[in-house]
Amino acid sequence: MLDIASVARLLEQPRKIVITTHHKPDGDALGSSLGLYNYLIQQGHHAKVVVPSDYPDFLSWMPGNEEVIIYTENVTAADTLIAEAEMIFCLDFNALSRINAMTDSVRASQAVKLMIDHHLEPEDFDDFRYWDINACATAQLVYTFIADALNNKALINKDVATCLYTGILTDSASFRLPKTTAEVHLIAAELINAGAVNWRIHELVYNSSTENRLRFLGHCLSNKLEVLYDYNTAIVTVTQAELEQYDVQTGDTEGIVNFALSIVNIKLAAFIVERTDGIKLSLRSKGEFPANEICKKYFSGGGHRNAAGGRSDKPLDQVVQELKDILPNYKKLLIQ
Ligand code: 5GP
Ligand code: MN
Repeated sequence: MLDIASVARLLEQPRKIVITTHHKPDGDALGSSLGLYNYLIQQGHHAKVVVPSDYPDFLSWMPGNEEVIIYTENVTAADTLIAEAEMIFCLDFNALSRINAMTDSVRASQAVKLMIDHHLEPEDFDDFRYWDINACATAQLVYTFIADALNNKALINKDVATCLYTGILTDSASFRLPKTTAEVHLIAAELINAGAVNWRIHELVYNSSTENRLRFLGHCLSNKLEVLYDYNTAIVTVTQAELEQYDVQTGDTEGIVNFALSIVNIKLAAFIVERTDGIKLSLRSKGEFPANEICKKYFSGGGHRNAAGGRSDKPLDQVVQELKDILPNYKKLLIQ
């Protein structure tokens, strides 16, 4: 493992750098990646953000967005960048399998791999680790990495600040989740001072629904929400046909699970969707309930205690039944 002094030394000269993040990047994945990108280019590095898949329109406005390479849409160019990179920053993920189609190329690259992340139980694929599960967002860690570890706060300009603020805003669910400490608010204040326009960022991220997206949400809440009061659990299930019927785009399903969790006394909420490549589960929980344990144990996934995901190749009905059958094992935690 490298120490921070060695990383700082490596960054003293212009380097070929790839920054990557997890499949289906969310606000923190993209915000932390572009925040780091906007920092590195100021120092003359040849940096590129390469993401494994597309991402929602409500994230497609951050500074540097037009330079992002989507791996699946540009495999040859991306593979060349990855193979020739001297450093690869791996942001907001803890296992190489989370970068899907990019996994093999990144694993094979001779580049120094630097993980900046806040997920539990990181896998051992990195040469440098800046990791803290208590961080509310990877963007928070990118901030302290630049400002404190590299002692370069002066380079947190408006572009860097805008991206990092977006990451913190989205991963803390608008400064609501328990990891939103006083320090997080102080960092947010620093980012606003550095040029992030907080109300405008909120507007761009949260007031950007299409009519379809809202109608789809209405459909989910009216017709697809099942509340299991015996287990304080709420489940929303969506079929492939419904995704087509409502012309659901990447990102349109984001946040639906939180409506289910917002029901009083509900401890666990699940959003289960039938995609072309299998069933995807998104779990959210309140308090001590370990949503990540269920995802890890039963659905080849993982995540944080209160926000986790997984997948399955079984039919949708069967996956929903499997989840329901698991609930009795957790009854004590769910009804306390
Ligand atoms: P989401 O439900 O928004 O897709 O994911 C919530 C969180 O769960 C993510 O931040 C990520 O940490 C984790 N997560 C989602 N899907 C997977 C998965 O397939 N594997 C693992 N290990 N974690 C996941
Ligand atoms: Mn994150």
